[in-house]
Amino acid sequence: MPSPVTIASTTVNPGERGFGYLHIGTLAGGTEVRIPYQVIVGTEDGPTLCLESTMHGWEPMGAEIIRRATQRIDPKTLKGTVLCIPLASPMTIEFGGTIESAGMRVNPVDVLDLNRVWPGKQVNAWLTEQIAYHLWTEIVSKADFIVDMHDGTGACDELPVAFPQAFPSDPAKAIGGGVADGTGADVSDVADRITTEYLDTMKAKIRELSIAWGSQVIWWREKPINPAMLSGQCAINGIVPLVVECGGGGMIDFTIDQGVECTLNILKHLGMMEGELVLPAKQIMVENYVVYRSLTGGFYIQEEGIELGVTLTKGQVIGRVVDPLTSEVRETCTSPVNGMLISRRVRMPINPGGYIAHIADTDSVIWSQENG
Ligand SMILES: [Zn+2]
Repeated sequence: MPSPVTIASTTVNPGERGFGYLHIGTLAGGTEVRIPYQVIVGTEDGPTLCLESTMHGWEPMGAEIIRRATQRIDPKTLKGTVLCIPLASPMTIEFGGTIESAGMRVNPVDVLDLNRVWPGKQVNAWLTEQIAYHLWTEIVSKADFIVDMHDGTGACDELPVAFPQAFPSDPAKAIGGGVADGTGADVSDVADRITTEYLDTMKAKIRELSIAWGSQVIWWREKPINPAMLSGQCAINGIVPLVVECGGGGMIDFTIDQGVECTLNILKHLGMMEGELVLPAKQIMVENYVVYRSLTGGFYIQEEGIELGVTLTKGQVIGRVVDPLTSEVRETCTSPVNGMLISRRVRMPINPGGYIAHIADTDSVIWSQENG
């Protein structure tokens, strides 16, 4: 039987769920900065899984995926503990929206990105660093596994897609990033722990988790770990991280339902709940994944038939950015690869650099699986 779990002022007994808020601090005008969390404690021992979303307020749909998924978790039959942080950076969702969404990527209080300051700092620290510090020490560091959820931003819808971060097996090349701007991780104390064996074991666990998530497409990204990112900080501290994206456009649609099944797949895979994994007919893992962004601003007019999941051929027109006054075509957007459309713009207008599409390059498949 597991022990009761205490997070901040909330103690949750086995077989129960509880909700609470981590108190971070107070803004100049007296606004309290607090972060909501949910704790679900099972009646049998098992792993501790953290479900986290909305480090970036312009990508809030993971919060709804977590809400729906956790409603389907019965604490009385759960094995292990689920720690949920659905709205990790509250200020980013409540203030300062752009055309990409009602929210922002950075915290408007200090203009920092929560996903670049891990594991945070308690003193001499900006608010966003303090948020990371409290989330890390009081919740994330207690987990064995974490699913870090992002979405297509308010501008784009998006099918579930796993973005597992892999890394070189050579310890000398495994860790990149840095602390040049005074935020983020100091990794000087981890070098002795980060052996080739450690890296290969962690990488294998990340790969397993990414397949179990159950998206049609998995983007295997092999590059040095950035320990200032949550997934990187977890990877060097023995917590198996999986970065995913799902949903977007601020919409509750079928992609949210798929994201819920994917999330529950992780619990089933880890033996925390009963049930068969819900998997698509075919899964592929690609090495190349195009995040297509516009060169110019205007209105983006999508070609007919460009639905999520469609197959694209290299050079195929997917849409055009037009001058909203004269109808002049400012940019013709074509798929740079043969691939599958994972995300597409649904909100107007678009400014230079705005997200147009995600396309998984199906000529770069390194693994695939047919599910019966
Ligand atoms: Zn994000």
